[in-house]
Amino acid sequence: MDERDGAIIDLDGVGKGAKHLLVWGEAVDVDILGTLPKLESLEIYKIRSRDLPKVARLGELRLPALSLRFWSEPDLSAFRPPAGLTELTIWQSNKLVSLDGIEAAADLETLVLNDNGRLQSLKPLQALARLSALYISGGIWTKQETDGLEGLERLEGLRRLQLRGIDGRGVDLTPVARMSNLEWLDLWARDFAMEEVAKVAAAHPFLRKRLLDLEDYGLADSMGLCGKCGTRKKQMFLKGRKFLWCPDCERKGIDRLLGQFAEAVEQARRDLGLPASGSSPG
Ligand SMILES: [Zn+2]
Repeated sequence: MDERDGAIIDLDGVGKGAKHLLVWGEAVDVDILGTLPKLESLEIYKIRSRDLPKVARLGELRLPALSLRFWSEPDLSAFRPPAGLTELTIWQSNKLVSLDGIEAAADLETLVLNDNGRLQSLKPLQALARLSALYISGGIWTKQETDGLEGLERLEGLRRLQLRGIDGRGVDLTPVARMSNLEWLDLWARDFAMEEVAKVAAAHPFLRKRLLDLEDYGLADSMGLCGKCGTRKKQMFLKGRKFLWCPDCERKGIDRLLGQFAEAVEQARRDLGLPASGSSPG
């Protein structure tokens, strides 16, 4: 079993008890993988175009979790999901722009999309009746681009949603506000216009509460401490930027911003036709 960059380049000699494997695309060998009865997850470190026929044969396997990196096709029509696949990760695949073909993974419960090409549409996900968790995020240095989030509101089984590191310019968050069964949401408010965040906060009070519970600035460096009184600053992400405030000396600024946000939430509530909630924040 040889490795390069910590990923396996030759499956010969992999123990029969292997549960998790990280392999290069060129090393994917369904004939060997099919002899590993305990295998639960397979991460393919790097898929090149010439590896696609090997990867397509994964459809012959039964496997709960699969991760694909460097998928080099514009959509997933060449994807042959293993039987029983419940968790799929696709990351750092900048050629991937369409989810067409994902409907073949009919058992999918969790989908992780990280740092891929500009996502054209989420509508293909409507074919996945069991999908309950969707995580969409950008890379360390890049924002995930999207043509919009329309269709999310129709994924009635979706309980968990992450939107972090999204290029949110011009993105309408109404579909997120219209989601009916959301239990957990990780949305980076800084990625979107305040009016859009307000829509989501109006519909999902747990997000509004989290935004208004001002966190301490993470670092106790000169940026994080008030120059006047030395108090740890609070941070808030709104209007596409980060605000740092001293909770003592700059209370007025905090209150002004929170007031603007509260107004935007009220406006969004009216626009979306949501009932007024009894508990107003702050
Ligand atoms: Zn201060």
